[in-house]
Amino acid sequence: MTTRILSGVRPTGNIHLGNYLGAIKNWVSMTDTIDEHLFCIVDQHALTTAEDASDLYEHTRLITAAYVACGIDPDKSYIFAQSHVPGHTELAWYFNCITPLGWLNRMTQFKDKAGKNKEHANLGLYAYPVLMAADILLYKATHVPVGEDQKQHVELARDIAHAFTNFVKRDVFTLPNPVIPTQSARIMSLRDGTKKMSKSDISDYSRIHLLDDDDTLALKIRKAKTDMEPIPNTNEGLADRPEAKNLIGIYASLANQNNDTVCSAFEGKTFSVFKTALTDILIEHVRPIREKLILLLDDKTEMDRILARGADRANELAAVSLAEVRSSLNLYPRP
Ligand code: ATP
Ligand code: MG
Repeated sequence: MTTRILSGVRPTGNIHLGNYLGAIKNWVSMTDTIDEHLFCIVDQHALTTAEDASDLYEHTRLITAAYVACGIDPDKSYIFAQSHVPGHTELAWYFNCITPLGWLNRMTQFKDKAGKNKEHANLGLYAYPVLMAADILLYKATHVPVGEDQKQHVELARDIAHAFTNFVKRDVFTLPNPVIPTQSARIMSLRDGTKKMSKSDISDYSRIHLLDDDDTLALKIRKAKTDMEPIPNTNEGLADRPEAKNLIGIYASLANQNNDTVCSAFEGKTFSVFKTALTDILIEHVRPIREKLILLLDDKTEMDRILARGADRANELAAVSLAEVRSSLNLYPRP
């Protein structure tokens, strides 16, 4: 069986360190062992939370360039925009018709993003997990590397695949497996250690952008919330200290170490000392990504080439799946 990775980032804003450490870094490490890799810029998902559509084009360019800058080889993997493959929304519609509302009511992302204003939340935000199931199942993806916050959605995709099998009495889809990085699955906001770092947080100081220059990186780490306690000798000592734990976790993830190793290296030190070391390692990682990102943002010909190549392959795979799906649903074949 062909193994295939599918994952994506929403073009909703400035790509950040959480997207890199929680998702893209893991994608890159998987590309050697998995046969085919599809990385999508999920622009239709972005519309579920957009105040208007004015930034979508620019943000799509940014995420495309960031994939490459973070280490995805656009000639070994396929990078494409969701809206360039109409099959996603077609399959999502079929899934809408077999997905019980009760399943969607359990999705925590909707609760988080809709907040108290459920009556005004749009239908797209509610149906987001169904479109995501379509993104994954359309390509018969076997591996779906995501941050921990998206695990529930991948599990829903498996449930939807089962429901579809029951509906058509035929096995059409491959069951996808979520792949969550063991370390730093969730990078938290620099302002509030209980909230995840997010593109849509209103505060720029809550996140590290991959486009931040060295001075901004240093400033954001200096301003990052911590506490007065020194660094303990093990990770256990960080319980109930969410901001401290987050900074240790970021260092650990960048250095490919675990929290215990970082704690023992900095045991007894204050956060002001630790922050200097964290800034250094952060700059060391972000600077080359930023430099590559800026170059590609300036090269429209290359960006278009990458996206066209990705869309061609994605549409080819989608056409095969959709033919099977339509036939299993007994839709009248187009004469
Ligand atoms: P938005 O706030 O617009 O939803 P986001 O930062 O959550 O943006 P997404 O495009 O929704 O980013 O997610 C892209 C990928 O990055 C997903 O695999 C998601 O799990 C992962 N991810 C997002 N935020 C974090 C984070 N703080 N820590 C680890 N992984 C994250
Ligand atoms: Mg998100």
